[in-house]
Amino acid sequence: MKTAENQTEKKKRSGKSLSFILWASFTVFSFALIAIFGVVQNMLLYREYREQTVAEVREAGEALTAKVRLSERLDGDELEVYLHDLSKKNSVNAYLLSADGTRSLPETETDFVPVVAEIRTRLKEAGGEDVVFKPNKQEYAFVSSVTVSGESGYVYVTSTSQSMAEISGTLRLRTVITGLFALLLSFVVSGFVSMLIARSVTDVTEKAKLFARGDYDVKFREDYYCTEISELSETLDYAREEISKADKMQKELIANVSHDFKTPLTMIKAYASMIREISGSDPVKRDAHAKIIIEESDRLTALVNDLLDISKLRAGMGALRVGVFNLSEYLFAVTEKFDYLSQTQGYVIEREIEEDLYTRADQEKIGQVLYNLIGNAVNYTGADKKIVVRLYGKGKVSRFEVVDSGNGIAPEEIDGIWERYYRSAETHKRPVKGTGLGLSIVKTVLESHGFRFGVLSQVGKGSCFWAEFPAPEAEDEESPKNL
Ligand code: ADP
Repeated sequence: MKTAENQTEKKKRSGKSLSFILWASFTVFSFALIAIFGVVQNMLLYREYREQTVAEVREAGEALTAKVRLSERLDGDELEVYLHDLSKKNSVNAYLLSADGTRSLPETETDFVPVVAEIRTRLKEAGGEDVVFKPNKQEYAFVSSVTVSGESGYVYVTSTSQSMAEISGTLRLRTVITGLFALLLSFVVSGFVSMLIARSVTDVTEKAKLFARGDYDVKFREDYYCTEISELSETLDYAREEISKADKMQKELIANVSHDFKTPLTMIKAYASMIREISGSDPVKRDAHAKIIIEESDRLTALVNDLLDISKLRAGMGALRVGVFNLSEYLFAVTEKFDYLSQTQGYVIEREIEEDLYTRADQEKIGQVLYNLIGNAVNYTGADKKIVVRLYGKGKVSRFEVVDSGNGIAPEEIDGIWERYYRSAETHKRPVKGTGLGLSIVKTVLESHGFRFGVLSQVGKGSCFWAEFPAPEAEDEESPKNL
């Protein structure tokens, strides 16, 4: 059922393949590059062409004008030869035109009458000076007015060099050819790159599938071509470790919970049977047995309560009811709950509590934290039965510390103790009831507040559990709520 669902999902999956994306990007990129190149080339070439043509036309035109103006008389044949040479040398067409445009030297089939009309306008615009202009889209022309053998006329020189259209035609062809090469190249390169990347991605995906099927032994980490993919595989490895830890812990939790439920239940059943069968008529024994039943029921209640607390906290249900309160007074009140241990079992609880330190937090939940930490210190402290409870201002926070003189916690166990249902191998006879959930509750509460906490411990010497409670913001301090 599930696999069938997965398959339909696969079919519907949107998005493009990595190779396609790479190929498309490479192609677009190379085309864009070629297009930009083509346009820029065209523009530059056009400018160069224009400048060169204008220079050619002007040079020839000025030379011819000078010659005509300086000569007293001009021999027609000699002039024709000169015009021919000039045209050839400068790749222009050089003419001498009569004022009305009906005659030209050299003679051609071109009708210069309309040309002369434009020449007049241009010269007029230029105030009679020599001028270069564009008679049509492709040509440039130089014109000046001269007098040949007493008759006024014009020097008219036009460009003959390859037209711009032809040049850009050639350029376009070249651009297209280069574009085709680029396309081919982008095929090859994108294929190669996508092969390198896609291979690693596929590899990671395959492993992730195995992992999803519950194989916690897959190793994602490998030296992939891409750092990002190597990083991804490292992250997946981390997730795998965490998930397998959580999985293991969950199994342990169930085992531990069932075990811890079983013992009191067995006891309750055994003593209830004993009351019915043996001690029912003996008030002293009956009371003693009933007491055990009550104690065991209390233990079960405590266990159930802790379990409920923790799942509520984890599920984010028990929303924080945050307020400002006097932490010093509150801590003092919590330590008083342990006074019966001093009176009956010789525990020494030293209080070094600085007065009137306030914080802003969920008072009830913080109470649970303090109670659990002090309770643990009582449970695990050494033979001297001494515990120190401290609270002092440290910059912007109030630091709470509870120090015991017990066996401490081995460095390799330190990370584990905060986990749900963690219990070190040793079992103690505890004056305060422990369920193995105490520190997990502490961690969840303090983390949900965003407060810092931790433990310093030395094996054989004892432990110091600490937490830091930030002082309330200035506006919160106006109405401090006492206990
Ligand atoms: P428990 O009910 O077992 O005390 P906790 O969650 O409060 O459960 O603590 C988890 C474990 O951390 C304990 O079983 C113990 O091994 C260790 N631990 C907690 N507090 C101390 C301490 N003050 N000294 C030494 N070990 C401690």
